[in-house]
This record gives sequence, C-alpha cells and structure tokens, in this order.
Amino acid sequence: MTISSRPRLSIIGTGYLGATHAVCMTELGYDVIGMDVDVEKIARLRAGEVPFFEPGLGELLRKNLETGRLRFSTSFEEVAGCADVHFICVGTPQKKGEYAADLSYLDSAIAGLATHLNYRALVVGKSTVPAGTAARLADLLAALAPSPDVELAWNPEFLREGFAVEDTLRPDRLVFGVRSAWSEQQLRAVFAPVIEAGTPVVVTDFATAELVKVAANSFLATKISFINAMAEVCEVTHADVTQLAEALGYDDRIGRRFLNAGLGFGGGCLPKDIRAFMARAGELGVDQALTFLKDVDEINMRRRTRVVDLGFELVNDSYIGTKVCVLGAAFKPNSDDIRDSPALDVAASMQRHGAVVVVYDPAAMDNARQAHPELCYADSALAAAQGANLVLLLTEWSEFRQMDPQVLARVVAHPRIVDGRNCLDPAVWRAAGWTYRALGRP
Ligand code: NAD
Repeated sequence: MTISSRPRLSIIGTGYLGATHAVCMTELGYDVIGMDVDVEKIARLRAGEVPFFEPGLGELLRKNLETGRLRFSTSFEEVAGCADVHFICVGTPQKKGEYAADLSYLDSAIAGLATHLNYRALVVGKSTVPAGTAARLADLLAALAPSPDVELAWNPEFLREGFAVEDTLRPDRLVFGVRSAWSEQQLRAVFAPVIEAGTPVVVTDFATAELVKVAANSFLATKISFINAMAEVCEVTHADVTQLAEALGYDDRIGRRFLNAGLGFGGGCLPKDIRAFMARAGELGVDQALTFLKDVDEINMRRRTRVVDLGFELVNDSYIGTKVCVLGAAFKPNSDDIRDSPALDVAASMQRHGAVVVVYDPAAMDNARQAHPELCYADSALAAAQGANLVLLLTEWSEFRQMDPQVLARVVAHPRIVDGRNCLDPAVWRAAGWTYRALGRP
C-alpha cells in the first residue's frame, strides 16, 4: 500500500511547536488532526483559542478550523485512524537535577501511537533530541506497531517563537533524517508546497538530522555568549559593546545577527539544548569536544548576576526597602514563554535580596504569576513604575523600546534605569534626567 500524494497528517503534542505546525500544515492544504494529552489545551484549540501567545497564529487557527480540515483530539486511536504521516512534537525538557534531556514524553507518545498502527505509516520526530534517540525509537516503534511497514524519520524544527508562523510556512531549510527512499518520498509529499517555493532540503541519516538542530542552537548560544564576553571586557576598558557589535557585524563572515549584548539567552530551547548536548557528548566519550559550551552557559548565567549587581550599585548597595520595576517577563519579546526566563530570574533574585519587585509584561503576565506568585504584578509599564526606586528593562518588547523617558520619569521615585537589553538610547535617557546603566556600555 502506498500513501496518497497528499498525505493526511497527525501532529502529536500541540504546544508551541505542534500547534503551530498543525495550523500551518492545514493552511498549506492538508487534512490535519492535532493530538495532546492535555485535555484543556485541546479544548481551547478546538474553540479556536491558541493556548499561548504567538503573533498571527490565532487568526490562522480560526480560519483553518472553519475549513473542516483541522481537528483536535485527545485519543491516539482516533489519530491513528485518520492520518498516514504522524509528527511527534512533544516536549524534551531538561531532566530534573541533570543536564540530560528527559525523553519520557517521546517514549510515551511513540508507545501510545504505535499499538494502533496496523497499516503502512510514517512517524516523524520533530522534537529536539540527543543523537541516537531516533535509532532507539525506531526499534521501539518496530517492536510495538502491529504493521511491519511502519517507519520512522527525523525532521528537526527550527522555528523561532514570535515568528513561528512565518518560519513554518517559509523555513530556511528542511532536514530529513531517513532510512529509506520511501520515507524521503513521503516527507517530500508532505512538504511539497514548501519545497516548490524554493526551500532547500538536506536528506541525511538519523544522527546527522538530530545533530543539525543541537549544533545550530549551540552555535547561536555561542554567538550570544561571545558578544556578552566582549561586553565584560568592554566594561573594564570603558568601551561600548554596541558599537563593537556594529563594527564586527559589517564583516560578512561574522554577521550582525545574534550579536546583541545584554541579559543573554533563556527560553525552552537554547539552555536545555546545549546542556543536553554536553550530557550526550559525555555519554559518547567526546565530552572534550564540547567543554566550550560550559563556558557559553557560564557567561550567559553571569549576565543575570551582573544585572542584579548593576541595580545594586544604583540603589546604593541595598535592595532592602527599595521598589524595583521590572519591564519584561517573557524570555524574549513577542512570546509569553517564561521557561528559563532571564527577566524573571533577575526579578526573583532581587526580591530575594529584599526588594519589592513589580513586574509588567505585555503577554506573559499569567504565566509569570503562576510561576512566581511571590512577585507583584501591574497592568501597565507606567503602573509598574509608580514610585519605583529602580527600573529594569529586561525583555526588549517594542512597547518598552519606545517608552518616553520624560513620561516615565514623572511616575518613578528615582529616575534610575538598567537597560538589560541595550535597546534604549543612553543619550536620550540621560538628557531626560535618568541615571542610565547597561551591560558592556559606558
Ligand atoms: P511544549 O511544552 O509547548 O509542548 C509539548 C506538548 O506535548 C505539550 O502540550 C504536552 O502536553 C504534549 N505532550 C506531552 N506528552 C505527550 C504525549 N505522550 N502525547 C501527546 N502529547 C504529549 O513544548 P514545545 O516548545 O512545543 O517544544 C516541543 C519540542 O520541540 C521540544 O523538543 C523542543 O525542544 C522542540 N522545539 C521547540 C521550539 C520552540 O520554539 N518552542 C522550536 C524548535 C524545536
């Protein structure tokens, strides 16, 4: 039996990655069923509500629900009954107390699906995994699926939160980790509209496909930590890291992107991916190849301490009795994702040092409240800044970049700001009477 030229798709795990993938594949013309073990998430998606903040995704979800080609379910049996190609998009978080990735969600998704696969089907892993995972899961699939014609492929995902729709519809590249011509053929059919639009495809083996993703994230993390290391040097030499980055960026071999010094990276991907990569390298006996990632991680985490220290200097060496306004809670703008958020890490640390911290974020308030009930929250930047002895800009939402320093100065107790993302013009803020401090910049 062959699968039709327009395969029916299932997407298992409808979080940031899976929900976006389900909606976008329907937009590209496919019949799609999204599945998750989280009953509430599925109810919200069925009702046309995206359970997280992602620009443009809500409209696209509602539009595609109306076509009748996009459905959601909580049943593996139902999913197995109405799709030929099954994408696995479940989480692979950092294991508690370890650097390694927790692959239990993947194992249980494969096990839940496999027992219903009594026909020729392709199962495609999209989650970010340590090298060797796909080979192990292929064995698991073969052992559990009633049909001998079920294959596994690996198709790592590179979407960026905040640009997820665009990245899914028009990715930079597609990577297909396959073990047969048939798997490749199915993946080419699934992504036909994307490939026809000119997206390059790299067809490779499982291990290379797995490594492309973690290597890409390691490179990006390294680039960020490189410029943040330069920021540390700039601070002692009184140089300006933003001008340094501009000048470096004109060199095509280096490039300007990911050279923004500041509070560093966080979120549900880069930190856990470089740690899982180090852990896997250790298991494979090549830990020396990746020892530099430990420095990358350390530089990154030091930026958080440095912001707490900068603020400390501005409030005359004591947070006790001070009111601190934190602008930003999401790990980056245009997202409500607070997983390993540098902004919330700094906010919580200041609160532990005795400050009263009031947080405002345009999208991540509910998530932040849930994760950090000890912090105070306000409904706007101005409300959060009311009576503040110190303002910290920690996530570079455009709303914060465009703040009027004169207006903000009227509501604070002391006009002192730490620009944790190097996204304000120091001259403008100083002219408006602010004491302005930033990372790697005089
Ligand atoms: P997420 O936590 O938002 O979503 C994971 C979903 O999987 C959740 O809704 C969860 O309920 C569901 N799930 C867990 N176990 C399940 C099971 N057995 N069956 C069905 N559903 C199950 O995570 P995410 O951010 O979407 O990331 C998913 C994977 O994609 C990770 O490996 C991540 O590293 C990778 N990734 C994420 C991004 C991103 O920007 N978020 C980008 C590229 C790759």
